[in-house]
Amino acid sequence: MNTKEYIEKAEETLLHTYNRYPVVFEKGEGVYLYDTDGNKYLDFASGIGVMGLGYGNKEYTDALKDQAVKLLHTSNLFYSDVTASAAMRVTRASGMDRVFFTNSGTEAVEGAIKAAKKYAYDKDGTTDHEIIAFNSSFHGRSLGALSVTGKESYRAPFEGLIPGIRFADFNDISSVRALVNEKTCAVIVEVVQGEGGIHKASREFMEGLEALRREHGLLLVFDEIQCGMGRTGKMFAYQHYNVKPDIVTMAKALGCGVPVGCFALTEDVAAHSLVPGDHGSTYGGNPFVLRAVDKVLEIMEREDVPGHAHEAAQYLTGELDKLKNKYNFIEEIRGLGLMAGIKLSDTLKAGDIVNDARDEGLIIITAEENVLRLLPPLIIQKEDVDKAVSVLDKVFSLK
Ligand SMILES: *Cc1c(COP(=O)(O)O)cnc(C)c1O
Repeated sequence: MNTKEYIEKAEETLLHTYNRYPVVFEKGEGVYLYDTDGNKYLDFASGIGVMGLGYGNKEYTDALKDQAVKLLHTSNLFYSDVTASAAMRVTRASGMDRVFFTNSGTEAVEGAIKAAKKYAYDKDGTTDHEIIAFNSSFHGRSLGALSVTGKESYRAPFEGLIPGIRFADFNDISSVRALVNEKTCAVIVEVVQGEGGIHKASREFMEGLEALRREHGLLLVFDEIQCGMGRTGKMFAYQHYNVKPDIVTMAKALGCGVPVGCFALTEDVAAHSLVPGDHGSTYGGNPFVLRAVDKVLEIMEREDVPGHAHEAAQYLTGELDKLKNKYNFIEEIRGLGLMAGIKLSDTLKAGDIVNDARDEGLIIITAEENVLRLLPPLIIQKEDVDKAVSVLDKVFSLK
């Protein structure tokens, strides 16, 4: 099949929930992707922030090959020899005490919501607790995760979602304070909003959340699915702020390509929330994906991948600032670490720039608010940044 036929066949059979770009990828290597026509692309999207270690890391791939032959799955009715090691790495890296593995980010959020609700239920025996979430947030597409997602158009057709969700404005602590009452059990927040336009939490906002937690005993749930796992220059974005969550969700780069997520909790929340019978998953954290998690964290720690991401990000941000000075349709460079947003004025469409960049061999994606979103693999080098920036420069110069 040629590229056109691949696309036609796929569109005949797949449920049409995505408007896909007309590219058929076949192979990845390092920071590059290759399509079925033999074109090579520098990948500054990494599968929406999943491929933190890039494509084809040998040590990672060898571990998966070995595990594929040894043991793929056992179910959670049994232990497997890789489970404890992966779990210990996750708790150590996050500063949490216990972890539940899921198959996706959405499911990590589901579990976090259930844990927060159960914790509150265990305390007072009532079920009408409230959770504060944020406008412009994104937490996933299942009915529970959708309930806390701050985009009206995503929720509207599916209303009848979890009751008691209140939406405040991100980075506006007084809007949160105004919603807190004796029924509030948790606040769920992305430390850096991804889909919503690449907004990092301000220090004041994070400290305000911490204060609310102390005053009202509510739980802080940090969704680090996109901003975690080294992307912002620390293993977790909250580590920039000296504020610790009660529950943290992870996915995307946690497995660097295998479908795995998790929510991790403090001992206090764990001890007073989900018990046998409350939660489960057939696949969740099977030996295959946990071998990946174990290896990803081993490599990230040993090679200080977050530290490298921090340095690469400083260089990238400097170069993007130069572009901003050159083109007046660039309104702002924002984000944290290698989670970078280029906010464009309304005279340009981010989607058009994405297409033009791809024609020039650079993969980038968009976020809300007419923002170009850059989520390169964490292993990018200076010359990769130079190449990406020169493509953007060329594309912008033709506008
Ligand atoms: C991607 C994402 C999710 C959903 O993860 P899936 O693996 O797509 O279910 C949830 N929260 C945030 C912040 C995300 O970026």
